[in-house]
Amino acid sequence: MDSIYGFTLEELSQKLALWGFSAYRAKQIFGWIYKKGIEDFSDMTNIGKKQQDVLKKTFSLSKFEPIRKEVSKDKTEKALFELADKKLIETALIPEKSRNTLCLSTQVGCGYNCTFCASKQGGFVRNLETFEIVRQYLEFSKKYRITNLVYMGIGEPLDNFDNTVKSIKILTEPAGANFTKRRISLSTCGLPDKIKKLAGLNLGIKLSVSLHAVTNSKRSRLMPVNNKYPLEELFESVKYYQHKQKYPVTFEYILLEDFNVGEDDVKKLAKLIRQTGAKLNLIPYNGKEKASLAGGGESLSFIEEKHSFFIKNLRKEKIIFTLRKSRGPDINAACGQLRSY
Ligand code: SAH
Repeated sequence: MDSIYGFTLEELSQKLALWGFSAYRAKQIFGWIYKKGIEDFSDMTNIGKKQQDVLKKTFSLSKFEPIRKEVSKDKTEKALFELADKKLIETALIPEKSRNTLCLSTQVGCGYNCTFCASKQGGFVRNLETFEIVRQYLEFSKKYRITNLVYMGIGEPLDNFDNTVKSIKILTEPAGANFTKRRISLSTCGLPDKIKKLAGLNLGIKLSVSLHAVTNSKRSRLMPVNNKYPLEELFESVKYYQHKQKYPVTFEYILLEDFNVGEDDVKKLAKLIRQTGAKLNLIPYNGKEKASLAGGGESLSFIEEKHSFFIKNLRKEKIIFTLRKSRGPDINAACGQLRSY
């Protein structure tokens, strides 16, 4: 039986039309699921008993609850889900004063082997099904009003292209969760063909690209994907995305002491930001072990101090950037720490 959480409204309407459901009914069902969070067809009180029976026979609404939840001292929450085939994934919720950001996983494991990231542990296992992405959201939306969604958990979202895109269509559907498109960010390690394909879909979401180094030799040492898709190809696809979406891409840049924060790195990075018009998001490096053991989770002023040469020079070059605060490092929930259970 198919999970109902894997269907876009259009697909659901088409499928239900076979049993004589109107398009309006399909919208009502979407509303029950995504606006009200109903998990039992019997609770859909404006759907007749006969139609409820059809739904029960056709779709599953099987349980999707975390087997473990951890809460950081900074209130970041991490949930461990066991999927039907016993595979494990993690999802993180980052609460802030005026927003709650949910970080979704799209694959079990990851095949891209970035040296700095824990998600590669155990290698790539499988893509998540659409419903497995959507239900991470629904589980957290029971407790939180989620304001921002980031596809930055375990896996490479553009490598699970179809299911990732479908989950975005489902979550932004006005008849359902009606999530604001501009409040969704997808991060990729840099797959140019998929970036172009995504641009063509006009989903209206934000795109982040894990850059982390500005020369091919350095980037290839950090991210083997760069051997296949060097910077020139990546930048070409980024320009295309910006041209199609009329919105700047964000380059993510992990600050790695003695590696990518020297004079030459600043100059090249500043030139690149000027040339592309992209935004820049600096990320403190999070160690694999919990912050208390391996560092990470330092305050922003500490990070600014630690990388003062780089940051001062970026400012001198008049480059505007944001500095991402590391959240939940004590429970291994920060960037690059998921799947280190
Ligand atoms: N596969 C996607 C999305 C997952 S990671 C991608 O590569 O972009 C989300 C962000 O966290 C990426 O920018 C990633 O490079 C970064 N990240 C990974 N490991 C990290 C670490 N140890 N410290 C800080 N950021 C890390």
